Amino acid sequence: MGKIRVLSDAVANQIAAGEVVERPASVVKELLENSLDAGSTDIRVEIEAGGRRLIRIVDNGSGMMRDDAMLAFERHATSKLTSVHDLEQIHTLGFRGEALPSIASVSRLTLETHSRDESSGSRVEINGGKMIKCEEAGLAAGTIITVRDLFYNVPARKKFLRSEQTELAHIASLVTHYSLAHPDKSFELTHGTTELLRVSPVASALERVFQVFGNRILDDLVEFGPESKSLATAEGEQKHFALSGFVSKPHIQKLNRNSIYLFVNGRLIRDKLLQHALTSAYHNLIPPACYPFALLFLDCDFGEVDVNVHPSKTEVRFRHSSFVHDFVRDAVRGKLMESKPVSSLPLPQTASQPGATLPFSEFTQRIENAGPDLYDPVIPVANPVAPNPMPELRLEMPRGPERRFDFNDAQPAQPPARMRMPDTHGPLPPGAAAMNEMESMGSLGDLRPLGQIHNSFIIAAGRDGLWIVDQHVAHERILFEQVLRQFATRQALQQRLLMPMVMELNVGQHLEYARIADELAKAGFETEPFGNRTIAIQAAPAGLAQGDIEKVIFEILDISETELRKASVEDLRRNIAASVACQAAIKINTPLDHQKMEYLLMELAKCEYPMACPHGRPIALRYATRDILRGFHRI
Ligand code: ADP
Ligand code: MG
Repeated sequence: MGKIRVLSDAVANQIAAGEVVERPASVVKELLENSLDAGSTDIRVEIEAGGRRLIRIVDNGSGMMRDDAMLAFERHATSKLTSVHDLEQIHTLGFRGEALPSIASVSRLTLETHSRDESSGSRVEINGGKMIKCEEAGLAAGTIITVRDLFYNVPARKKFLRSEQTELAHIASLVTHYSLAHPDKSFELTHGTTELLRVSPVASALERVFQVFGNRILDDLVEFGPESKSLATAEGEQKHFALSGFVSKPHIQKLNRNSIYLFVNGRLIRDKLLQHALTSAYHNLIPPACYPFALLFLDCDFGEVDVNVHPSKTEVRFRHSSFVHDFVRDAVRGKLMESKPVSSLPLPQTASQPGATLPFSEFTQRIENAGPDLYDPVIPVANPVAPNPMPELRLEMPRGPERRFDFNDAQPAQPPARMRMPDTHGPLPPGAAAMNEMESMGSLGDLRPLGQIHNSFIIAAGRDGLWIVDQHVAHERILFEQVLRQFATRQALQQRLLMPMVMELNVGQHLEYARIADELAKAGFETEPFGNRTIAIQAAPAGLAQGDIEKVIFEILDISETELRKASVEDLRRNIAASVACQAAIKINTPLDHQKMEYLLMELAKCEYPMACPHGRPIALRYATRDILRGFHRI
């Protein structure tokens, strides 16, 4: 007798559950999607013990007829699809008919549902995939699904569950983001007796963002859309794509992708292509290992996207993937460019909130490290003992009887001086939102340099306040854009070396050199192979000091070797430009005369993106006139 047996439905469902039901949040996702598919406008989610003990979803959607209520638990039972052709035009969130039987096979599930087309409702109880009860019940129209003791019969899976808080965080994030995608519906989420989210219908996504995150986040976001673009296919058809949503300004830098939410035709997905498009949009605006916050809605013809890639339906495949990639990248980047936000200095805080201060040396060191947590709220440093290599300076307003705003750091009688971190994503001080309309780099062109602090920062007066510009990063941005333009026009400014410089490369660097030698040439590096793994440099981009040339070349070869082997030519050029710009830019601790400062500010004003250096650091801080007036009690 043969050894192959057909598995029972119960086992098949449990196997399917392994893919569909990874954790409590996946149950919530499937049930929430079913409720949305059923046309619900009011969805309540109740959770106990992080979803292990209880997940209940109450909706006011279509409900199910008696026969359907039982059929729904059969494998591959769905009302959303009839033929394989429908797969090409899926406009519902569900379509595989797998979720309910899978969830029911690994929990104790109760379905209570009432369709408006029947006089009474039904209650179905299922334990570990076995139907226990099916009875008539008096119920309001809509559906209630209660899932208790998830994974009670799959101990192996239960072990993989994380802490209650972690599971709850996943659920909360999911419900929150579905609520953002459907501002016209009510959502409620409770954990035990705690209400985590409650939003009522509003007219726009912006209002929903406000409901969910509050006023504060709006200052950190750029809203856009819908931006649309059409594609003419080879078959002569026009396909339309539209993108709308919110992306964070470059000063928001997250350590992981958890704050990136992508919706394609209303479906929350995880997609590498779109994530890459988004990261490319922020390229050279935020540091490489950082991620933005993003809430993006991409809408397109249903036929343009295949959602039947994975049972959990979180992955998609686009028919015209490179078109979609470039469309998303360019749309997001375009919006970021338009907004040109500037970091503002924090307002003086009340005595109960000492505010974030840290010694200048630590400030510069953080800047040097440019770590991803650069903009996380800074913990106040109490009486630092370490000697500071540079005299410190005070930019926060003293709260004593003598209200003074003094830049003269030569005065010995100054109180212990500190420089404030641009605490741009901590809680905004009251009234800060009012400055928002002025928060743009637009007035850069009118800046009058007044002097330098520490031979490192240019102080300038502008029509909208006092500006502090970091001379190194400002110059870096100017040179970066210059080098990029030179790539485009193929007119790199070059300096010939008196003697060719010979460099020995390791194997990886040598391979990389062979690959990118043409691009190096376009940037102004004239090089040629010189025997075994050695190259000779005859000329380099103008502005690079002789001693820096070698460093830049190594940096470019190493960056591209490790990260960019598969990256586009554009990414490669940006990295070359960033390396050249960083080395060639004036350093901090360099005195500048008035003319040089003026030149620098003027060139900065001409930049396409004057608010952040190619590594993502802010270039300028502004003390708005309004805050100065407020500080002097004039308003
Ligand atoms: P799918 O969503 O892929 O069709 P499911 O197993 O999630 O498969 O659901 C099976 C069917 O049960 C759905 O096609 C739908 O007809 C019905 N259903 C599930 N949840 C609800 C709900 N909340 N309201 C109305 N009908 C529902
Ligand atoms: Mg479903």
